[in-house]
Amino acid sequence: MTDNNDYYEILGVSRGADDKEIKSAYKQAARKYHPDNKETGSEEKFKTLGEAYETLKDPQKRTIYDKYGKEALKGAGGSAGFGDFSGAAGFEDLGDIFSSFFGGGFSSSRQRGPRQTRGQDHSVEINLKFLDPLNETKKKIRINPLGVCKTCNGLGAASQADISTCGTCNGQGQVTMVQNTILGQIRQSATCPDCNGRGKAIKNPCSPCKGKGYKREEKEIEVTIPAGIADGNTMRVAGVGDVGSNGGPPGDIYLHISTEENQKFRREGQHVYSEVEISFADAALGINIKVPTITGDKDLKINPGLQSNTVQTLKNEGFPELNRPSRKGDHYIKIIVKTPTSLSSEEKKLLQELQKLRHSKDLKI
Ligand SMILES: [Zn+2]
Ligand SMILES: [Zn+2]
Repeated sequence: MTDNNDYYEILGVSRGADDKEIKSAYKQAARKYHPDNKETGSEEKFKTLGEAYETLKDPQKRTIYDKYGKEALKGAGGSAGFGDFSGAAGFEDLGDIFSSFFGGGFSSSRQRGPRQTRGQDHSVEINLKFLDPLNETKKKIRINPLGVCKTCNGLGAASQADISTCGTCNGQGQVTMVQNTILGQIRQSATCPDCNGRGKAIKNPCSPCKGKGYKREEKEIEVTIPAGIADGNTMRVAGVGDVGSNGGPPGDIYLHISTEENQKFRREGQHVYSEVEISFADAALGINIKVPTITGDKDLKINPGLQSNTVQTLKNEGFPELNRPSRKGDHYIKIIVKTPTSLSSEEKKLLQELQKLRHSKDLKI
């Protein structure tokens, strides 16, 4: 984290942005900078982004940030952050601020046992063909989540005998530091630097996981993409991201859906749009034609006297709705009347007759 990075700038939103704008800006940027994104991914940017979002989505943290800046939110980082409060904020205010970091103010700031952390989320891009969303689709995706090491079963050590209680934190995983400030004594807890919060010391670390107890493992999983999914949708597959640490819940996998374009059809929501050309004789006399739809050719009745650019609707011939696949969008067909550009002599003769007839009745068109 660098201090010249403003959280609002990082997310690309204005200072007055509402929760919805912040969330959508975060989602967009997270997709771009996610370390799994081979083109634009950046672990550092992703982390900073997460920090910015965590702060701005929480009204309490956002208020603190707006008023006092990033230092105030760091809190545990040292006395630097507290100077701003002298005189301006009372003791209760500080308590409120701490409760947002330590989950409950001064008295409960010492957490018992190793700290539980939720596993990281992953994101995967899914590319679908234009017509795939007509039905439910199964897709195999490759993921690389952090899991419990299979060699040591999460122990982190070569054997049980290699594990002892961490002497630095007495197995608590947390160390408590007491700090004297102008507002009195403040207790702060932090993850034990010697055991990284696990509360255990390891003599012979497990070699495949280097003593961590966790290891990344590439695997393939099958996901079900529901009918009606559209370009730009995101789906969450819960619990298959990184394993949580110290018994924390696992992360999720986010599937970012994109769909191919199609030459014949354009999709907007669940509706489909296309164009069809007919001759001016057909337009004048009316005709039944076959038109392509996303489920095959369908009959379309052209009434006599149809004008070019008329849009006719084929009801329920669009894509299914995402959560109610029995309901479907419509297909809008724009009918274009083509004027012939080359005529046989026979056609020309007939048209000249027609022209003469129309003129004799003083009809302009
Ligand atoms: Zn291991
Ligand atoms: Zn320790």
